[in-house]
Amino acid sequence: MRIGGSMRIRVKDIPAEGQDAAVDMPLTKGRTSMDGRLKGTVNLRPMAGEVVASVEAVVDAKSACSRCLEEFDNGFKIDVVLVCVPVSELEAEVEGKQLSGDELDLHFYEDGLLDINRMMEEQVILNIPMQTVCSSECRGLCPLCGANLNVGPCECAKRPVDERFHVLRDFMKGTNKSKGA
Ligand SMILES: [Zn+2]
Ligand SMILES: [Zn+2]
Repeated sequence: MRIGGSMRIRVKDIPAEGQDAAVDMPLTKGRTSMDGRLKGTVNLRPMAGEVVASVEAVVDAKSACSRCLEEFDNGFKIDVVLVCVPVSELEAEVEGKQLSGDELDLHFYEDGLLDINRMMEEQVILNIPMQTVCSSECRGLCPLCGANLNVGPCECAKRPVDERFHVLRDFMKGTNKSKGA
């Protein structure tokens, strides 16, 4: 069932034996802080008035390396079991009652509808890898000429050290000027 590009499943329609939902959706920076694509399956099973969602998904994504600025493959897997509870129980918890699934990953839904796309987006946000560099070996960009040092050494490396120092000193002067100091 797709409504406006989003897959919603009515909780009371989930059969007692459970059901599988296939997911294939684009990810956008605006919603999950990364562009990419998520593919996988969600198994939904009613249990004691709640719904257990077993998520197995693969995210294909590319990020720009914070050192060399080149794009690298930053994909990851999501393998999580969520207990889906109505958002009204969140309010119950705030009032001091404990939810049964204290240590479990929770997903809150509204109006008796599980929004599978939103559930996936939440998991993407929670699972985005902290990796911000293409490789721990990445040499980054030359601070003087901006060349990608993974490709090879730039001309700056061949210059004598004091000459490099002058370039840096001129650069510092420039920054001070622009600050109006
Ligand atoms: Zn890099
Ligand atoms: Zn250089």
